[in-house]
Amino acid sequence: MEPEIVTVVSLTCYGGVNEIGGNKVLLEDGEVRLFFDFGLPFAHRSRYYEEYLNPRASWGLLDLLEVGLLPPLNGIYRQDLTLPDLWDRFSSSPHYRELHIDGVLLSHAHLDHSGYISFLDRDIPVYTTAMTSVMAKAIQDSAKGDFEKEVCYAIPKEDKKGARAAIRYNKAAAQQRPFRVLDCGAWSGELGHFWEDTPGRRSLEACPLETAVSIGPLPLRCFPVDHSIPGATALAVATGRGWVVYTGDLRLHGGRGQQTEAFIHQAAQLRPVILICEGTSVDDETCPVTEDGVYSNALKAIREAKGLVIADFGPRNVERLLTFRRIAQEIGRYLVVTAKDAYLLRAMHYLDPEVPDMGGDPVIRVYQELKADHDHWEQDILARFRDKLVKAEEVGRCQDDHILCFSFFDINELPSIRPQEGSLYLYSSSEPHNEEQRLDFYRLHQWLEHFRMRGIGLPREELGWKVPQAEQGLHASGHATGPELLKLIKEINPEILIPIHTENPGYFATNLEGTGIRVHLPRYGEQITLP
Ligand SMILES: [Zn+2]
Repeated sequence: MEPEIVTVVSLTCYGGVNEIGGNKVLLEDGEVRLFFDFGLPFAHRSRYYEEYLNPRASWGLLDLLEVGLLPPLNGIYRQDLTLPDLWDRFSSSPHYRELHIDGVLLSHAHLDHSGYISFLDRDIPVYTTAMTSVMAKAIQDSAKGDFEKEVCYAIPKEDKKGARAAIRYNKAAAQQRPFRVLDCGAWSGELGHFWEDTPGRRSLEACPLETAVSIGPLPLRCFPVDHSIPGATALAVATGRGWVVYTGDLRLHGGRGQQTEAFIHQAAQLRPVILICEGTSVDDETCPVTEDGVYSNALKAIREAKGLVIADFGPRNVERLLTFRRIAQEIGRYLVVTAKDAYLLRAMHYLDPEVPDMGGDPVIRVYQELKADHDHWEQDILARFRDKLVKAEEVGRCQDDHILCFSFFDINELPSIRPQEGSLYLYSSSEPHNEEQRLDFYRLHQWLEHFRMRGIGLPREELGWKVPQAEQGLHASGHATGPELLKLIKEINPEILIPIHTENPGYFATNLEGTGIRVHLPRYGEQITLP
């Protein structure tokens, strides 16, 4: 008799271990290897870098490997970012290995999950939802060129006097990564055109969107879930040892909570051997504010407001943007979005009819910044929505007619708008996580004081950077609470739980004791072999 060949199936976490974000979970099943997400670890990065101190693009991958932002895995990264002696330096590091992978399964377009796909070899396919694909492109199109944010397409680099430098735009096209769509089989010609076109001067070597149901011989499943960005999905892979399920980031209290419920139900039916589960908000045990709650609380605050209203919510939180659109319509104000938001909404509308058609929407207008030169993507938006544009002067003249969707980083527009005294700044996003973000709040308070604006929902230093009790309910978090996650895990009932994307993985070990679910707290780079 032939001896039975037993293939080893294993998981290795190279990010998201005892930290929120930066998920990079390697799954190996015989010859098939893939990552769940390949994110930018913001907290880790901010221990070494800040706004004006960044990894040096001219040294390619060096700085990122040196401080451990990227794992030393020789064979998965872009050749054009690899200096000749790079691997000599890292071949003795404890986690060094040679590795080839067949793809990345991407849960959603937040950079702490997607960002460092930028450094992966251009030929490695990204398996995700159609919406995440489109958002990744729109986000990159409208961003300043930054080698840490080349998720959708890579700008080829060459050697210039020993440094890595972008090849001139007229000499080399940007190279699009192969995106494999897991959740939808058909898209419009307009979407195809958007996908294969680039707004800049550099042309795009396009890689058309294709659908996929497996990676090599391994079947894949995706389950759309509710999170603070559209297109988010949980993922599952059928390995030789059973199903491995990955939650990505999720919640139950947003507008699409029923999708997360459906995921829980379907994942349970797979009887997974492993569940890799996020734990961002495990320490939050209170009943979460819902998106509908945000709507009614913000509506009340804005209805009473005099003068200008500024709504500040997280970037790409399109659900929140649509919540403020509803409010604007209800009280008869225009909702003014930035050109960047307009670019994103336009792309998303191709896939999701619930996202308003910018051209025909009576409520949304586009803020036109005063600039001598606009980037190509911006020119495109300004031309396309010519009759929707509004400038600072007009907002300043008719302050009662507008809700401006601005973040802190747009606050320097205020001198040309000159908000009248008592205008409202409504903060609808998360509390600061680090010193840098706290500094931004000092500055924001300074601006509001300068224009005598009224802030609401703002975290305050004297409250330990919490939002005053009376002003809570203007933000719904993107993550499920501890008790909700425990319920989710018990319902899915995996053999083994691996907590990730959390600063408190021990929460799961403590609270799942006696349930029969084994909790494995991962260590960075430790290979976990499936039973
Ligand atoms: Zn997220």
